[in-house]
Amino acid sequence: MTPYLQDVLRDGGHIEAAPRDTATETALRVQSRHIHILYFSDPLCSACRVVDPYLAAMVELYQGLVKIDVKLGGMVKSWDELPAMDPTCENGESVACLWERLSSEHRVQMDSAIWRRRPVRSSYPASIAYHAAMAQDPKNGFRFLQIVRDLLFLEGKDISEERILVTAAIRSGLDVPRFRQSMQDGSAADAFARDIRDAETWKVRRFPTLVFINDQGDSVTDTSFLNQTTADKALDHWAGIINELTHLDAPDGKLRADMIELLEEFPGLSSSEISIRCGIPLDRAEARLATLWKHGRLIREDLPNAVHWRSNSTPYRIRRDHAPVRTAAIIGGGIAGYAAARSLAQQGVEVRVFDRQRRSASQGFGFLLLKNGIDALDSMGLRSDLLRRGNPINRFRAILPNGGEVYQRQLDDCLSMRREDLVEMLRASSGAAEIRHDAAFAGFLHADDDHISGVRFVDGTSIEADIVLASDGIRSSVRHALFPQHRLVPVGEREIVGMVYLPDLEVPQDEFVKVIDTAAGKCMGMIPLGDGYYIWFLQFNHLEDPLDDGSGDSMRAFLKKVTRDYPDAFQELVAKNDFSTSFLWISERMDLLPAFSFGSVALLGDAAHPLLAFTSQGANSALEDAACLAALLSRRQEEEPTSEVFHRYYRKREPNIRRYIAEGDQLVEQFMHLNRDKNFQLPLSLH
Ligand SMILES: Cc1cc2nc3c(=O)[nH]c(=O)nc-3n(C[C@H](O)[C@H](O)[C@H](O)COP(=O)(O)OP(=O)(O)OC[C@H]3O[C@@H](n4cnc5c(N)ncnc54)[C@H](O)[C@@H]3O)c2cc1C
Repeated sequence: MTPYLQDVLRDGGHIEAAPRDTATETALRVQSRHIHILYFSDPLCSACRVVDPYLAAMVELYQGLVKIDVKLGGMVKSWDELPAMDPTCENGESVACLWERLSSEHRVQMDSAIWRRRPVRSSYPASIAYHAAMAQDPKNGFRFLQIVRDLLFLEGKDISEERILVTAAIRSGLDVPRFRQSMQDGSAADAFARDIRDAETWKVRRFPTLVFINDQGDSVTDTSFLNQTTADKALDHWAGIINELTHLDAPDGKLRADMIELLEEFPGLSSSEISIRCGIPLDRAEARLATLWKHGRLIREDLPNAVHWRSNSTPYRIRRDHAPVRTAAIIGGGIAGYAAARSLAQQGVEVRVFDRQRRSASQGFGFLLLKNGIDALDSMGLRSDLLRRGNPINRFRAILPNGGEVYQRQLDDCLSMRREDLVEMLRASSGAAEIRHDAAFAGFLHADDDHISGVRFVDGTSIEADIVLASDGIRSSVRHALFPQHRLVPVGEREIVGMVYLPDLEVPQDEFVKVIDTAAGKCMGMIPLGDGYYIWFLQFNHLEDPLDDGSGDSMRAFLKKVTRDYPDAFQELVAKNDFSTSFLWISERMDLLPAFSFGSVALLGDAAHPLLAFTSQGANSALEDAACLAALLSRRQEEEPTSEVFHRYYRKREPNIRRYIAEGDQLVEQFMHLNRDKNFQLPLSLH
C-alpha cells in the first residue's frame, strides 16, 4: 500500500493517496469521478490539528479518488484583529481554554500555556514560511507545516518568530539561506496572498473549511467538522457529501493496519490519531502500541492530554518487557543519575536515588544539548518535554572583539537549556521509588570479598541493591574509591561563568556567539536561554592571567577590563551580571579509565569520564551513558552477571569518549596558543 505521507511528500501541499487495486476502487475509477477538496487551514488553527487524521483516513479510504489541496487562509493577521475573526477568542485566556477543551475532548496534545504567557502575534509569518518551504521543495511542504504545528502545539513555541520558522526549516532539511531569501523577496508572501484570495472567493469564514468539488465543478462547502465529534460521524458526513456530488457510495476500503509503517512516516502521532488512521478502536490501538513500546520499537511520550508515539530512530532500543535486575541504587541525582533512574524504572526496576546535596547542584547554569543528548532523551520518551523547555539554537557565530565575523555555521539539533530545568524534568519523571538528599556516599557494603552488595552513606545509613550506578559528578567519590590512581589534572585554562537576565537585550535568540580575542588570548561566549536569560563564559589562560580569587568583586573587575572593547551586548552582560552568583571554574582533564565498572558498580557521566567544557559534551554524553546502559541492561540474558553487561557498556562507550577527550585536549591546546596560532575551530564536539 502506498503510504499516505509518501503521497503528501510527493505532492507537497496536496493530500492525495495513490490508487489501490481492490475491486471496489477499480469499480469506482471506471466511473471516473473524482473529488477535489480545498482544505482551508491555518498554522494556528487548533481544530485543523484535530481534523488532519480524519482527512487522512478519508483520503486513504477513497484511494485515488480524493485529492486535497491545502490552502492557508490567513486566520490571524495580527493579535489585535483576532476578536473580529472569532468572538469566542477575544483574549489569550479564551484561546487557551479553547485549546484545553479540544485537546482533552480529542486527546490531541495542545500546549495552551503559550496563550497565557504571550499570545502568538500572527499566523501570517508561518503561512508565508509554508510557501517558502513549498517553493524550495514542494514535496516537503506538508511536512514543513506539520513541523511548524508541532513547534506550536507540542513545544509551545511562538511560530510568528522568524527564528522558530528557521528551526522548522532546519528540521525539515531545507536550505536555510534559500528559505530566508523566499521569505524576504516577496515570492512566498505572493503565494500566500493567492491563498487568501482563494479564501475570499470561497467565502471562508472559519477554519477548517473544506470545499468539495466534483469533475463538473459543482461544490459543497463544509464547516461542520467540530460538530462531528467522532471519526465515524465525520467520515460518514463527508461520504454523504461525496455521494451528493458523485453519486458514489462510500467505498468499503480498508485503512492501513501497520502502525510501525505509519509512524515511520510521521514525526509523531497521538494514540487517538493512530486509532483514526488505522480505523481501530482506541483501546485496541493503545494495547498494540504498548507492546511495540515494550520491545523498544516505538517511543512513548506521556503528555498531559495525550500519549504520543514515534518510531524509535535513536541508537537506543530499551526493552521494557521485563526487569533486568530487581533493585538499583543510584549515587548522584544529577543528569546521568536521573536519566538512568527513569530508564530503569520504566523497565520495572526498583530504583533509589541518593544525592549528597539538599538540592541538585546548580554549577553550570545551563548548556547546549546536541543531537546525541537529544536522542538519548528521546529514547526515554522525553523529547517533546525537552523541546518545550529548551531554546532552539540555529547558528554559531565567531566574531572579533570589534564585532567583525570570522566564522559562522548552522547548528542542527541544538538547544540551550538551564541546568535546573533539565534536572527538574528528569527528576520529576524519574519514576524512582525513593529520592534521598543529604545522602553522601561513604563506601560500599560487601557480601563477600569480591561482591559489592550495597552502599554506605556518611550519615551511617546504608542500602542494599543488585546494582549500584555511580553518577556523582566530576569529583566522584565512587570513582576515587574504585580507581584511586586516576586523578584530574588542571589544563591551565580557566573560565568565569555566569547567568544574567536581560529581557531588553536585542540580540538574536537563536545564536550562540563567541568573541575570539586572539590578541589577548581569551574567548567569551554568550548563549541565549530564552525568556530573557543568557549564560555567558569567559575563557582565559591562567598562566597569562593568574586569577585565583573567585570573589564577585575580583571577577567583575577582571571581566570589565577584558571586555571594554567587546561588542555592546557583551559589555552589557558584564554590567548587569550579579557576580555573587558567578563562579570561577578550573578546567581539569583526566585520561580515559580502563573500565567504567567494578563488579556490580558502574560509573556514568562525569564520574566515568570528566570532559572539558570546551567540548559541550559533558551533559550530552552523561545522557548517552544512561540510555546506552539502560538499553544494554534491558537485553541482559537471564543468569548473566551484570558485570558482563557493564563490560559491554564500556566497549560501546569507549570510542566516543576517547574522541571527546582527544577533541577537548586539542581545543584547549588551540586555545592556549590563541594569540600565536590564529586557526579557529568550532568549540563543540558535534556528535
Ligand atoms: C562551566 C561549565 C560549562 C559546561 N557547559 C556544558 C555544555 O555546554 N554542554 C554540556 O553537555 N555540558 C556542559 N557542562 C558539563 C555538564 O554540566 C556536566 O558534564 C554534567 O552535569 C554531568 O552530569 P552528571 O550527571 O555526570 O553529573 P552532575 O550533573 O554534576 O551530577 C552529579 C550529582 O552527584 C551528586 N554528588 C556528588 N558527590 C556525591 C556524593 N559523594 N554522594 C552523593 N551524591 C553526590 C551531586 O550533588 C550532583 O547532584 C559544563 C560544565 C561546566 C562546569
